[in-house]
Amino acid sequence: MADPLRILNFIDGQLAAPAGDAYLDNIEPATGKVYSYVADSDGIDVENAVTAAQRAFQGWSETPAAERSQILLRIADLIESDLEELARAESIDTGKPISLARGLDIPRAASNFRFFATAILHVESEAHITDRVAFNYTLRQPRGVVGLISPWNLPLYLLSWKIAPALAAGNTAVAKPSELTPMTAYLLSGICQKAGLPPGVVNIVHGTGPKVGAALTAHPAVGTISFTGGTVTGRAVAESCAPFFKKVSLELGGKNPNIIFADADLEAAIKGSVRSSFANQGQVCLCGSRVFVERPAYQDFVSRFVTEASSLRLGDPLEDKTDQGAIVSKTQLEKVKFYVDLAGKEGGKVVLGGGSPKNLNGRCQDGFFFEPTVITDLPVACRVNREEIFGPVITITPFDREEEVISYANDTEYGLSSSVWTQNLNRAHRVAEKIHAGTVWVNCWLIRDLRVPFGGMKQSGVGREGGDEALRFFTEAKNICIAR
Ligand code: NDP
Repeated sequence: MADPLRILNFIDGQLAAPAGDAYLDNIEPATGKVYSYVADSDGIDVENAVTAAQRAFQGWSETPAAERSQILLRIADLIESDLEELARAESIDTGKPISLARGLDIPRAASNFRFFATAILHVESEAHITDRVAFNYTLRQPRGVVGLISPWNLPLYLLSWKIAPALAAGNTAVAKPSELTPMTAYLLSGICQKAGLPPGVVNIVHGTGPKVGAALTAHPAVGTISFTGGTVTGRAVAESCAPFFKKVSLELGGKNPNIIFADADLEAAIKGSVRSSFANQGQVCLCGSRVFVERPAYQDFVSRFVTEASSLRLGDPLEDKTDQGAIVSKTQLEKVKFYVDLAGKEGGKVVLGGGSPKNLNGRCQDGFFFEPTVITDLPVACRVNREEIFGPVITITPFDREEEVISYANDTEYGLSSSVWTQNLNRAHRVAEKIHAGTVWVNCWLIRDLRVPFGGMKQSGVGREGGDEALRFFTEAKNICIAR
């Protein structure tokens, strides 16, 4: 049998073994077995990548926007033409159902490149006339070498969400994907080569956060860091960047409320809520993990929600009919189990799931699976209702009044997203305005227009990405003031 693949770094346009020639096991979550190795890089690899990115900066930043756009569009085309290969790779690497990788993650990665490739052609610059005294205009210049750090849950989608605007704006980049899910970033290296991206414009260094991520955030030549991941890691990133006054964007965790009023279209609310609870096994930062239901609809909602969630097919992520795949890692699975145990101690009642499935055999028998789990009867202020679990576990709680549910929704350190289900238009606006979250969906979930500002309030993040916000983040605004 051939040796498993070794995932190499991508530095200066070439695949490169890590300087220390060390590798980490890359485990397939659905089987629990090692299926490839990934470069266990260190500060030397980061240094090499930063040097390559510095060398490439002048040429790339001076490349006309139309040419940069063409190359980014070619990357988008290649992602689309490699859709099946990428979807399979992502499903194996993350444990997510292949249908989700094929239908959402990979197409959205292509859309990210396409969106910023065209956005850069339509950038406007502001001008201000100061009476008869002066004329000002704003010059937005690329910032140089940027560091891009991304998590494991939507690996190619979130990486491309950073690479595309950074490059479109004329920066060069050093990216660090999660060591748990490096495969699609590795395939992206080949796509960048094929698309004709000049060497050094994107460099991808694989390895752990403490070694590669920390070296990147501490590198004095990397003045801009865009990070997506957990709140605890985000704090470490912010601390590391602070002494250099780096420009930092932090997209962090969430504990998102999903509010259902009794006047909602319950059929739509139940279907939408099952999706927002369990998509990607609940491992989407935007999943609604705290469901609040107005009391007259509570019993009906819980029983219909449980019936609907019970119909989700859990199994081999590579099978087309699977709705629920594996949890990304053993550590994450243990975390999910910990919180389900804790829910029992905090007075919760498990009304669906609550454990690992018993009926998985064949290649998935040692995989990291957990059933979709619904817990009721918990106090709003308990740990399970306040801390991010990031798995297929949700709580459902009744409420009586609008002000009461707004206070429940806001009773957490997080403020990433929220959903509100109601047919009362006035209430929808009123509640949406009062919820402390960067995004509020009304009668829907996960609809993403790439032009809108995206990000979190409170401990869910700092800064906004998406559309103009991302292009602004990756550029430095300079005011040029000319006397009249
Ligand atoms: P982590 O915070 O564990 O890791 C995110 C990235 O940071 C990984 O590449 C990780 O490397 C790296 N990293 C770890 N330590 C450091 C360090 N000291 N310095 C620099 N980089 C470091 O998040 P997860 O990968 O576990 O992702 C899940 C989290 O991401 C959840 O909290 C989720 O809510 C959040 N998330 C937020 C989103 C948003 O838009 N707000 C979107 C998606 C997820 P490695 O893992 O290889 O060690």
